[in-house]
Amino acid sequence: MAKTAFVDFKAVKAAITMEQVLEHYGILDKFKRGTDSLNGPCPIHKGSNPTQFRVSISKNIWNCFSECKHGGNVLDFIEKMENVSIHAAALKAIEWFNLNPAEMAADRGETGEAEEATPAPKPTPKSATRTTTTAPAEKNVPNAPLKFRLDKLEREHPYLTQERGLSLETIVDFGIGFCSKGMMAGHIAIPIHNAKGEVMAYAGRFPGEPPEATPKYKLPPGFRKSQELFNIDRAIKEPDDKPLLIVEGFFDCMKIHQHGYRKVVALMGSTMSAVQEELIRQHTKHDSHIIVMLDENEAGIIGREDIACRLSKFCFVRVHQFPRPDMEPEHLSDDELADIVDGIA
Ligand SMILES: [Zn+2]
Repeated sequence: MAKTAFVDFKAVKAAITMEQVLEHYGILDKFKRGTDSLNGPCPIHKGSNPTQFRVSISKNIWNCFSECKHGGNVLDFIEKMENVSIHAAALKAIEWFNLNPAEMAADRGETGEAEEATPAPKPTPKSATRTTTTAPAEKNVPNAPLKFRLDKLEREHPYLTQERGLSLETIVDFGIGFCSKGMMAGHIAIPIHNAKGEVMAYAGRFPGEPPEATPKYKLPPGFRKSQELFNIDRAIKEPDDKPLLIVEGFFDCMKIHQHGYRKVVALMGSTMSAVQEELIRQHTKHDSHIIVMLDENEAGIIGREDIACRLSKFCFVRVHQFPRPDMEPEHLSDDELADIVDGIA
């Protein structure tokens, strides 16, 4: 529990900008941009004077010269806006901006990727059901499809072909590749589609072990991965009588796909949000089978129990347990995977 409660405020503050936070609240366009400042009405006391609230971009701090007579950093701002503790503000920031507390927490030395795309601290069974209700303001606001595509991605990057063992066919199929320009520069860009096949965002995976304080995954600010299921667009085209495999990570999903099993989606974390549950429900018949195959670690074990419990209300669910700790779906061989999915039919 102590681990769960640990939040590195400094790392959270460093990871987000005031600009991103204003954008998150949908009020960035109310602010005028100076050389190093954003000026606008104070969103905290809801003032109207367009110069009363000022953000220093370089210092990443804000000040209200009017009613609040107060200023502070990004977390102070979220604290005031949400009327919560600084700890709760940090947890909100982690969730909104898909920050990775496992990466930021200094007390963790795990090398596995179980938490790589997990937005919130490891859930306990209690908090797993609570996470979906922590941010009521934005939880039902859908992501909007992207209006651009990243091109000139380097497909045959050694991180993909050698380290992750992906074939060129899989790489092209998923549209991933190393990006050298723009927001995802220096990362493997991974497009995330909605059920209609529209690109909703690119996730950026650092190719290899990132330096300290750099998260393995980068997601666009404001994008809510809890509203999407990676590969859902293709999984739903597969026959009804095939079981749907639910895994945690992008690479688990791509690897399983590469083995020829295409009815697979990734939660992009070890928990299932209410929106993800609804997505699965929409595309599942009452006699459908689902296999929940998360990583064999603490987060995965907690996550799969909660997921199985929730999904079993409307279809048949089987939880796959690996024989050894820290095993992940990504590392299954063709034969092992075939045994798992054939066992169901
Ligand atoms: Zn104010």
